[in-house]
Amino acid sequence: MIVTFLGTSAANAYPEAFCRCDNCQRARALGGPSLRKRSAALIDDELLIDLGPDVMAAAQQHGRPLTRVRTCLQTHGHADHFDASHLLSRSPGYGVAGAPRLHLYASPATLRLAARLLERDTAPGSLFDPEVGDELNLEIHAIEPFQTVTCGRYRVTAFPANHDPAVEPLLYAVESSGRCLFYGADTAALSEETWEAFHRCRLRFDLVVLDHTYGPDEPASDHLSARQVIAHAERLRAEGLLAPGARVLATHIAHEGNPPHPELAAFAQAHGYEVAYDGLSLEVGH
Ligand SMILES: [Zn+2]
Ligand SMILES: [Zn+2]
Ligand SMILES: [Zn+2]
Repeated sequence: MIVTFLGTSAANAYPEAFCRCDNCQRARALGGPSLRKRSAALIDDELLIDLGPDVMAAAQQHGRPLTRVRTCLQTHGHADHFDASHLLSRSPGYGVAGAPRLHLYASPATLRLAARLLERDTAPGSLFDPEVGDELNLEIHAIEPFQTVTCGRYRVTAFPANHDPAVEPLLYAVESSGRCLFYGADTAALSEETWEAFHRCRLRFDLVVLDHTYGPDEPASDHLSARQVIAHAERLRAEGLLAPGARVLATHIAHEGNPPHPELAAFAQAHGYEVAYDGLSLEVGH
């Protein structure tokens, strides 16, 4: 599995367009990996995690067209992770040629929100109507926490996120070719039932991607902070949940307490993890 990070920022991008804080000013001056779009990831150019507001720009910028995407695992429906207008960007009705059918997986609450957003913005009818699905060239699938589904050559297991319960947010483990990735954003500290489920499902991760919204000196909140990422990486290692050579990467990075990329990467390296950046591609298990 090759994972490409299409975006690695928290809700308001990094730098925030309107912000003159020290971190945003320095990120602007540095450019490169310090410029982050809203979080999304692409696996093998086939499986997209989150149809976020910046995926079109990121696909262009990093030369990763979404023309082969067959599966979208939607973590939740917050605006920095889901943009309903992208569903029209796949529709033959809008002149889109050659796109394979998209299988969109999300929690029931996220699907309901997606349907509301689609109707508000474009009113093609209900997302739950199979005829609308045909028009948009997609099929929706409700997925519940701890459910495992097969999506083409991927085995996907959903876990509950510790995040806005109103949207029933999900985190995902994706297995293929004997490798396993965990994508953990958005979430605060993982629940004990999630830790237990990792063991029950006999998962051993080659790559763990974690929410890193807040920097090293920021308190814990509704998302993970740097200190909590360190603690989660240590616990994963201590509980034998990491395969030999496994990597832990931070994503969903906000300007609040997180310095620009080179500095944050140095901090992470000193604490046993790495920091993803937009356009980073890596092979899971290598
Ligand atoms: Zn988010
Ligand atoms: Zn700022
Ligand atoms: Zn969120």
